[in-house]
Amino acid sequence: MKKLFTLATVLLFLTACISAPSAPQTQVQPASVSPTESQPTLSSAPATSTTGTTLYLSATTHIETKPDSWPYDTEAFLNFLQQTTDAGIRWSIGGDIGWLESAEDAQEIVQRSTAMGAQWDNHAHNPNDLAKIASILSSWGAEPTGVVSGFLIEDFDGLQSSYSDQGYSWSPTMIWGGVVCPGHKDGCDDLSVSLYRPTSSSQFDVHNPAGKLIKLGGGSHQLADAESLAAQIAQGEHPYPVIGYTIMVEPETLRISTSSTDDLDAILAFVERMNTRPFVRWATIEETAQAWVSAGEVAFYIDR
Ligand SMILES: [Zn+2]
Repeated sequence: MKKLFTLATVLLFLTACISAPSAPQTQVQPASVSPTESQPTLSSAPATSTTGTTLYLSATTHIETKPDSWPYDTEAFLNFLQQTTDAGIRWSIGGDIGWLESAEDAQEIVQRSTAMGAQWDNHAHNPNDLAKIASILSSWGAEPTGVVSGFLIEDFDGLQSSYSDQGYSWSPTMIWGGVVCPGHKDGCDDLSVSLYRPTSSSQFDVHNPAGKLIKLGGGSHQLADAESLAAQIAQGEHPYPVIGYTIMVEPETLRISTSSTDDLDAILAFVERMNTRPFVRWATIEETAQAWVSAGEVAFYIDR
């Protein structure tokens, strides 16, 4: 069923969603599919499905400003990242300003996870914090990616081309997800599997080839949905050169978001099953977008 995008006029971080009129919009028109001329430039040579698709799986966790989302135990959190990294997962992590500035173990977690190969995205629920988050991460030696995550679609038009703080300048290159209202309530979150360049806040799901920012929609973030997507790709559905999907873990529970069962063991078993698919690759969110660019930017929007 076609997704309706709500034109909400709410601010990020409001605890309740305000009902607003919904307006149907045009979906991204997938570009005609042509053979991939240039291959993604990740370290391992990508294998493709019989339809020429490579599925890039990423993983993220968002440590929010409110302490109830902070990792309970520094070593347990880092051990979780290490075990999943050893299994092949490439992490894209976001830490909002309140955690970065207040948590005693924030710097240690940022630095030790970076040493493992994790990337830090810019996760700000308030766009005014983008500059400071980037400069804190940089000052700790974790050069932030250009990924904006934790994103309110109505803020898209107001995103600046660069942000500065303490003499450090940071430029967004892509956005991950995008919500029409905060709070992860029904209808708020972007659950699409998509890669394209949004046109504007009001035409967010319309691809503009000249758009400055890339958008990755990482699906529902659930393991089961990733597996069904992979099964569909194996059967020749969604014949786009590069598709991205992101699993998401809650830092305080170390389980897949909203799942009461998908813990470390379930995630490691999932990685093994996915690795039996020759067209699956593990990549960060930013690396997924880079692969999409290298493969010719074939835009798509798979509604979920
Ligand atoms: Zn957040």
